[in-house]
Amino acid sequence: MTTLVDPSTAEVISELPDATEDETAAAIGRAAAAFPAWEAVAPGDRARLLRRFAQVVDDHIDQLAAIEVRNAGHTIGNARWEAGNVRDVLAYYSGAPERLSGRQIPVAGGLDVTFHEPLGVVGVIVPWNFPMPIAAWGMAPALAAGNTVVLKPAELTPLSALRLGELAREAGIPEGVLEVVAGTGPVAGWRLVTDERVAKVCFTGSVPVGKAIMAGCAGSLKRFTLELGGKSANIVFADADLEAAAASAPMSVFDNAGQDCCARSRLLVQSSALEGFMGLLEDAVGSVVVGDPRSEATQMGPLISEAHRDRVSGYLDGRVDVAFRGRVPQGPGWWFPPTVLAPVAPGDRVAQEEIFGPVVSVIPFEDESDAITIANDSRYGLSGSIWTENLGRALRVSRAVEAGNLSVNSHSSVRYWTPFGGFKQSGLGRELGPDAPEGFTETKNVFISTEAR
Ligand code: NAD
Repeated sequence: MTTLVDPSTAEVISELPDATEDETAAAIGRAAAAFPAWEAVAPGDRARLLRRFAQVVDDHIDQLAAIEVRNAGHTIGNARWEAGNVRDVLAYYSGAPERLSGRQIPVAGGLDVTFHEPLGVVGVIVPWNFPMPIAAWGMAPALAAGNTVVLKPAELTPLSALRLGELAREAGIPEGVLEVVAGTGPVAGWRLVTDERVAKVCFTGSVPVGKAIMAGCAGSLKRFTLELGGKSANIVFADADLEAAAASAPMSVFDNAGQDCCARSRLLVQSSALEGFMGLLEDAVGSVVVGDPRSEATQMGPLISEAHRDRVSGYLDGRVDVAFRGRVPQGPGWWFPPTVLAPVAPGDRVAQEEIFGPVVSVIPFEDESDAITIANDSRYGLSGSIWTENLGRALRVSRAVEAGNLSVNSHSSVRYWTPFGGFKQSGLGRELGPDAPEGFTETKNVFISTEAR
């Protein structure tokens, strides 16, 4: 049994039974049984069903957003964006079924063609920080390519996924094509990893669990993608538009209370600009509106749970220098103020570990090569930003930083039509973008002899 709690008030929302291993196996069984018919749905009809699913999600944006505000403490603005992202990802991949074409390759004596065959049942395992978008990033291209899906939300945030499962049925997606199993990681999640009827696992979550899943998938040579942690660098050169860089730096790390794998939690600032930049940054951090996630004006809500707040607080031991902090509401809820640590050395624990809270480490650097060395001094490589008015430098540093998703003079969030994923221990494989449906298929080569007989 999991107790769901509103993170902004600490009030209990409900008690939800955890799916047992047998119940998870039964859901996998239903998804396996539904696969042949779903695979056989004509591409145009599968596209139509996904478009209808997108439309039904659009009709329920406010309801889905309200669920996420309550269950995850997300700000209402973010939660609406997240529900809209599910709609958009479904709509985007509803264009895939009719476009999933193979190739015709020249050969002697016949015709050679390739097909993209769906894999079967895909398990999508989701963390608590972005329950809706991450569910959609896995399930939408998987369904579009003709697979059935078993979706396992995180223990703390199952409600939006359960609602999405109901909306899929309302939209006419056949029974068994999208199963939602709310259970724990070690029971329901692990069953998805080890059950031989599951052909692929899309996992988003922490590095240790990702490694265990990778090892578990080896048991049946299951396909997998891993989207794991991050410790991304926001690199500000002295030649940048410092006002714009300072104004945007807080929300590049404090958005979603820092519980974002792409959070720019290392702020690398060129020493010659450091003093002026810190003044601008202090003003910007002071103006971040932290409070009731139901208020339209709120920019940052609470952390997900008391245990997580304890974990984040644990990084602020006596050994770190707190430069300045923002404000938080008093009273119940798992609040943690926006916090700027400075100066931080590149090897410090707070510069190396993913804190997953509203804490940013300011690290001074001397020159371009120093900035690249520090940015790459991390086991992670998910995203990052580069602020400079020098185009050549922007391109050189973009090519040199070991990360999957970089933005120049901006902190672009994930776009569903561009590829997303990490270098190094930030993950394996890519999600989203035009090629994602192919990742849910096996390429089959067929040669047809045209020899006269
Ligand atoms: P987590 O690894 O604890 O859990 C993630 C999911 O895995 C949950 O659904 C959980 O129930 C399940 N799980 C746990 N143990 C399992 C097991 N043994 N077998 C199968 N499933 C298991 O992560 P979390 O704390 O929920 O999420 C935070 C982490 O996710 C952070 O490290 C963050 O950076 C990462 N994340 C990465 C991305 C990305 O795209 N790269 C996006 C969001 C979050």
